[in-house]
Amino acid sequence: MCRLAILSFHGCPVARLGEKDTGGMNVYVLQLTREFARKGIEVDVFTRYHDPDDPKIVELEDGARVIHLKAGSYEAAKEDLFDYIPEFLSELYSFQKAEGTTYDLVHSHYWLSGRVGMTLSRTWNIPHVATFHTLAQTKLRARVGEREPARRSEVESLVMRDADAIIVSTEEEKQDAVRLYDAHPQKIKVIPAGVNLDTFKPVNQSIARQRVGIHEKQVILYVGRIEPLKGIDVLLEAAALLDGSDDIRVLIVGGSPGNDAELDRLKALTTELGIESMVTFTGAIKQNKLPDYYSAADVFVLPSHSESFGLAALEAMACGTPVVVSRVGGLKTFIDNGETGYLVPWRCPEPFVQRLEMLLANPLLREAMGRAARAKALQMGWGHAADRMLGFYSSLLRDTLESAAGD
Ligand code: UDP
Repeated sequence: MCRLAILSFHGCPVARLGEKDTGGMNVYVLQLTREFARKGIEVDVFTRYHDPDDPKIVELEDGARVIHLKAGSYEAAKEDLFDYIPEFLSELYSFQKAEGTTYDLVHSHYWLSGRVGMTLSRTWNIPHVATFHTLAQTKLRARVGEREPARRSEVESLVMRDADAIIVSTEEEKQDAVRLYDAHPQKIKVIPAGVNLDTFKPVNQSIARQRVGIHEKQVILYVGRIEPLKGIDVLLEAAALLDGSDDIRVLIVGGSPGNDAELDRLKALTTELGIESMVTFTGAIKQNKLPDYYSAADVFVLPSHSESFGLAALEAMACGTPVVVSRVGGLKTFIDNGETGYLVPWRCPEPFVQRLEMLLANPLLREAMGRAARAKALQMGWGHAADRMLGFYSSLLRDTLESAAGD
């Protein structure tokens, strides 16, 4: 294989992370693209301009580029992006014609890109691999109150039928695709996501705490986008019930303070619970600073209602921090309950309180779990995920050539 087109229509891999719509998917696309290029594959990632300061082309590595294309206004809402797919496609064709580049395979990320990938695959006569990252039907079942545009599920079904292959991070996602969308199990490949082991490694805890500005004895950390599906309210309710709360700092990393209704709701909840002085909302933090946060923490908490993979938990583990998370989705696949952290089957505060108090009161347990967590994360670098993905692309291209020769 020589050249790969990656579609990440709404999720720019070089966007600032941790805001409303920028999280795990952006990281996934960025890290895999870099790994592919290091392994000698040329990659173009096509995404929409989301900021007037975006350069047209960003070189990520030798052979790997992010290409910004115009599709709707910079500040267009995610809900409206479907309408800009024709503009995105036409910009993409113009770019490709002007350069005279050809691609061997297209890999789309998220349902919007999946729709773009369907058309490109037909026009260019190349295989289309789709990764959804989250599925509307899974989200709608995970939490009462979730809303998704009606057309999202329809497009997801269509892309599942049309794509040559689907890559998911877990067996559970595969089962959801089969059960909820009637996807063909044989075209679904499970390849777990990874963690950047160059970035995420333990930092001495007192140095990390100094850098983060923590004075309390114990630290509980959440990192991620700020949205109801993450269950941050459960963490705050648990924090309010903890023993010795005067000496505990709860750090909530992510979101855009001043412009984030969910963040405002959570701040109001801290007031209601009487724990404002215990909780710091830092807003989004650059990823290269996160190892200080993970290492400053005694425990990382992710009480999500649904989590297709849960990169932040794996990053915490890579920094040697034990995790207390909901027993959902991808988290079940890389966290061993009682060994590298705790998997909590209920989305209510009391069981989180119980696990948190156990860990906070027991430095030896934290140390043992943190060590086991890091050992687990060390097996899950992005290089490994990229090797598996490239192996899968090659077999797909071989099958496509063989079936074309047989026609
Ligand atoms: N992240 C970040 N800064 C923040 C918040 C999050 O860099 O302030 C990154 C974090 O390191 C992780 C990603 O955003 O890599 C979130 O991915 P995860 O899979 O945990 O959640 P998702 O966004 O997929 O729901």
